[in-house]
Amino acid sequence: MGASSLTRYSRQTILQEIGENGQRALGRSRVVIVGCGALGTVVANNLTRAGVGRIVVIDRDFVELSNLQRQILFDEGDVGAPKAIAAVEKLRRINSEIEIEAVFDDFNFGNAERITDGADLVLDGTDNLHTRFLVNDLCVRDGVPWIYTGAVGTAGMTMNILPGTTPCLRCFVPEPPEPGSLPTCETLGVLNTIPAIVASMESTEALKILLGKHEWIEGKSVLTTYDAWSGEFDRLALERDASCPCCARRSFPFLTEENEGAAVALCGRNAVQIAPASKTNISFPVLAERLGNAGDVTWNEFMLTLKAEGREISIFKDGRAIVKGTDDPHVATSLYARYVGI
Ligand SMILES: [Zn+2]
Repeated sequence: MGASSLTRYSRQTILQEIGENGQRALGRSRVVIVGCGALGTVVANNLTRAGVGRIVVIDRDFVELSNLQRQILFDEGDVGAPKAIAAVEKLRRINSEIEIEAVFDDFNFGNAERITDGADLVLDGTDNLHTRFLVNDLCVRDGVPWIYTGAVGTAGMTMNILPGTTPCLRCFVPEPPEPGSLPTCETLGVLNTIPAIVASMESTEALKILLGKHEWIEGKSVLTTYDAWSGEFDRLALERDASCPCCARRSFPFLTEENEGAAVALCGRNAVQIAPASKTNISFPVLAERLGNAGDVTWNEFMLTLKAEGREISIFKDGRAIVKGTDDPHVATSLYARYVGI
């Protein structure tokens, strides 16, 4: 370690949990942060300052004014910029002694393997379950640890997933929920402290895993949940499912094209069609109530339309949707994930 590194990391190298050897180990580590929103910015900030040697940040979204309430790496000057690029510019100003790479793209079956190649750990900063199922399939198949984390409303959760050892995501969520069935930050809102809290828990677990100092019991893991408003903290022990399609039967459907929801620009219409991989049967009354706070909602027996952020999303019973006001499939997929939720 050079002199400047000794100074930069002095407060954590004197911690007996890390020490100078631990600091060197962090410097040799490579992590991938999937998603750079409320969770991802906090994790990236923590791990950059802690001196993790190589960090990759991938995100498909642009910074919006409504992100500034909680996405700590962005300021007003970043509105309109790609999140991954704006975040990495800031991270490089924080720590120029490590390698940080921005990937401005959707994380999908086509690029996931290349992006996570050589990673010691994958960190969940996503806003949707579909991407988490993809991360789970990839990490279980390739034996790469990952940390599942989520936050919405006033509550959040986190769990370490060590392939071959602990349960995986599909041990306790066997199938992805139907589109529109779960609340999102756009429909329920999010208290700005909760993603920061659970992402800091995630960052702590990341440091422990990279240092080989995490605790684990064969076949078990702990799902930590916290509600920042009620103050309720819970640690739920989960066991591996012996018939888990992913970690027991080693079937990885999310790594194939059929399970990637297709987003196609509709030529000349400034609109994109989204076709989720699995057909569903959306309840419009339920979805209308959930979306009520997010924008103007109208619906009939065939279609529900939401107007928000200057765009119009028309959702059909089977989960298919048309997003008007953009011809960029990434933007449309992002809006669908945030409002309808997949
Ligand atoms: Zn499993």
